[in-house]
Amino acid sequence: MGSRKGVSASELRGEVPKEIFDVLVELEDEGLIWLKRGGHKAIVMCAAEGCPGKRSVGGTPANPGNVAKRLRRWVSNCPEHR
Ligand SMILES: [Zn+2]
Repeated sequence: MGSRKGVSASELRGEVPKEIFDVLVELEDEGLIWLKRGGHKAIVMCAAEGCPGKRSVGGTPANPGNVAKRLRRWVSNCPEHR
């Protein structure tokens, strides 16, 4: 992980809705994702070895709760999006 140029989930506090922030912190803590700046706000990268999975997260989604839920589901479905 050392060579990745990313951003820590905690740096996004206040930049994304709380529901999404909480999920990002949790998934990062579990080592399931890493983040970088890009897209509308941040790009969520799947941390699984060799997995190209990524999702863009905006700062002002219409339905943050839904986005948070989908992020969680996306990560737990990781083997399917390889
Ligand atoms: Zn993945």
